[in-house]
Amino acid sequence: MKYLKVFFQLLMLLVIVGIPIKTAELVVEKREDVIEGSLEIKEPQEELIIEQLKKEETVIKNNTPVTTGSGWWAYPENIKETTRNGNDLLVLVNKEYKLPSTYAPTDLVKASNSGIRRGDSYYLRNILIPDLTAMITASKAQGIDLSIVSAYRSYATQQTTYNYWLTKNNGDVAYVDTFSARAGHSQHQLGTAMDFSTSEINDVLGDSFGNTKASKWLVENSYKYGFVLSFPFGYETTTGYKYESWHYRYIGKSNALEMKNSGNILELYLRSKN
Ligand SMILES: [Zn+2]
Repeated sequence: MKYLKVFFQLLMLLVIVGIPIKTAELVVEKREDVIEGSLEIKEPQEELIIEQLKKEETVIKNNTPVTTGSGWWAYPENIKETTRNGNDLLVLVNKEYKLPSTYAPTDLVKASNSGIRRGDSYYLRNILIPDLTAMITASKAQGIDLSIVSAYRSYATQQTTYNYWLTKNNGDVAYVDTFSARAGHSQHQLGTAMDFSTSEINDVLGDSFGNTKASKWLVENSYKYGFVLSFPFGYETTTGYKYESWHYRYIGKSNALEMKNSGNILELYLRSKN
C-alpha cells in the first residue's frame, strides 16, 4: 500500500513536470521558419542572436553623433502596410510602411553561394546571387575583401533583436528607434538587405566600416551590380535611421542605375515608386 502511494506521487510529479516541457517544445517549434519546398531554415536560437548582438554592441556605443531634438527617429501614429508585395524589389519598407508579420521570402539561399566570405551563416534571396557574385568577383580583382555579417532576419528574429536593445537601454524607446527597426519595419525581413564588413576591420559590424577601402569601393561601384546604400550620412531626418555605412539593399541593376541618375537616396527613390 505504501509503495502504491509513492508510485502515484511519482506519477503526479511526472505529469506536473511534463506539462512545461511539452509547452517549451511547442514554442521552439513555432520559432522555426519553414521555407517553401525542400529548403528549411531554422530560426537561430535566441542565445545565438544575443551573442551576435553583444558583438555589435561596442560598435553601436561608439556610433557617430546624431542629430538630436527633432524626433526624426519617431514612428508616425498611423502605421500602414506596405503597398507593394514583399517580393517586389522596389517595396518601400520604413517607419511608416510595415511588412506583414507573415511575409517571408520563398527563395532564400546561403549567401556563400555568391562567394562572399562568412556567407555560410546568412541567407539572401536567390534572385540577387548572380549580381552579388559578379560584385564580389570584381571587388576581389581590385584587392577588396568583403565579408557579410548580417542578412535575412525573420519577423520573429527582428522582434528579439529590437527587444534586446530595448532591455539593454532601460526601455529607452527613442534611443533604440534611432538604430534598430521594430519587427515588420526592417529591410532585413526582405532577404535583399545585408550588412557588409571586411578583413580590414576584422569583420566587425559597424561604424569603422565607413573608413575602409571596401566601403569606398562599394560607394563607387555597388550600383553597377544593383546594390545601394539604405541609410546615407546626413539623411537621418529622411530615413529615420542613423548613417549605416555597412547596410546595403539590392534593388536590381536597372533600378539602381535609375536611382543614381535621379540623384535621390534610396528612401526618396522608393517613395516615388510606392
Ligand atoms: Zn542592416
